[in-house]
Amino acid sequence: MNLPSQIYRLARGAYRSLSLKPPRQRELFYKEILQSSEGKSQAYLQSLLDYATLRVPYYTNLADFWREGNSELAHFPLLTKPLIRDNFERLKSDEIASRNCFLNSSGGSTGQPISIMQDREFEEWREATELFYYRQFLGIDLGGLPQVILWGSTKDIKRQTNTQGVKGKLLKFIQPTTFLNSFKMTKEDLQKYVEIINQERPVLIKAYAGSLYQLAKFVRNNNLSIHRPKILYTSAETLRPFMRELIEDVFRCKVYDFYGSREVGAIAGECSRGKMHIFNFNNYVEVVDRDNNTVRFGEEGRILVTTLHNHTMPLIRYEIGDMAIPGKPCQCGSPLPTLERVTGRVKDHFLTRAGTLVDGGYFTRQFYFRNWVDEFQVLQKDFDRIEIYYVSNGEPVASEMADICTQIQLAMGEDCQIEWHQVEEVPRTPQGKLLYTRSLVNS
Ligand SMILES: [Zn+2]
Repeated sequence: MNLPSQIYRLARGAYRSLSLKPPRQRELFYKEILQSSEGKSQAYLQSLLDYATLRVPYYTNLADFWREGNSELAHFPLLTKPLIRDNFERLKSDEIASRNCFLNSSGGSTGQPISIMQDREFEEWREATELFYYRQFLGIDLGGLPQVILWGSTKDIKRQTNTQGVKGKLLKFIQPTTFLNSFKMTKEDLQKYVEIINQERPVLIKAYAGSLYQLAKFVRNNNLSIHRPKILYTSAETLRPFMRELIEDVFRCKVYDFYGSREVGAIAGECSRGKMHIFNFNNYVEVVDRDNNTVRFGEEGRILVTTLHNHTMPLIRYEIGDMAIPGKPCQCGSPLPTLERVTGRVKDHFLTRAGTLVDGGYFTRQFYFRNWVDEFQVLQKDFDRIEIYYVSNGEPVASEMADICTQIQLAMGEDCQIEWHQVEEVPRTPQGKLLYTRSLVNS
């Protein structure tokens, strides 16, 4: 064993003794995940449903349906954000006092933020699932590996950058993580971020998809060179194909997209073949049509999530606000079910007067290879009124603008009015995300 790895092992041992914690529960859950099967996931689900109907007033009081033997998931009503807000107290387990729980809130980029009670067990399962994804899908164990995180949530950054005290300093030594704030992305910041990445030489770069895209664009437009990490990991925003293409090209590295949320934790992660595998031991996922029936392979639908390990406040058939296309079994070797794609938030999709939903990706595709557009947002204000906000990079090309209008009218109807607005910057959400498409009709 060489000297640096001896020092590392000693330091890690010292940190573990100082933190005085028993072996982490998440490692036990991780082992459980490795032995998991479809049957085990069904057992988690049934046990959660039984628990909810017994111990959660919202479900015990809803109706008499389960007493008549209707305890299957399909018989449970859908849960929405407004329903959670209105029934917050009644959604708590009557055992809450003994469940070691805490209050968490979602980012709220899809509207009003919501608060959820979560417990230690939920948190350990979330961490174990992420560990599983890192180890089994990305082939890395983060212990000691340098990583750079380009993130927009000040809450997460504060929690993870506490380097005060002996414990904090040791943690920083053992887990060399550099945080870059994606809320601050001026040209000067981006220049500094490139320098930091080149200096830290991270194995992993974890980022908001849109922020990493902006960084990649900055590197490309300024002819800079940037360190090539082993893994690029994006989350928290829809990774559109045009974003993936540029990011992979600039960093010379594949992007792995991860899908999860604060309310429910890890949902799915991308494999080497580009399919999103559902972590069905952590969350039960349904993809449904407008009548709430499961859609077939290849068809797009709304995602419903049932959290399997948050008994403090079970979310059952929770309408998370995103859409996806279920996929067939994957050839990569993982038996976990797949989503062909997560196609974005429901509100990214435009609704026509005839009731058809048009995937937001259709509109973003129209901006591929339009070099005069630096950033943009396509906003649906009414069924037949669309506004395009764009930041120009050079003189707009009239023929290409006309082409974009024609393509939009093809999907939305030829009467659709399209207005162009040149702006200094497209406003971000409070979480610092740039929404490329947004519908005020479909909300
Ligand atoms: Zn796969």
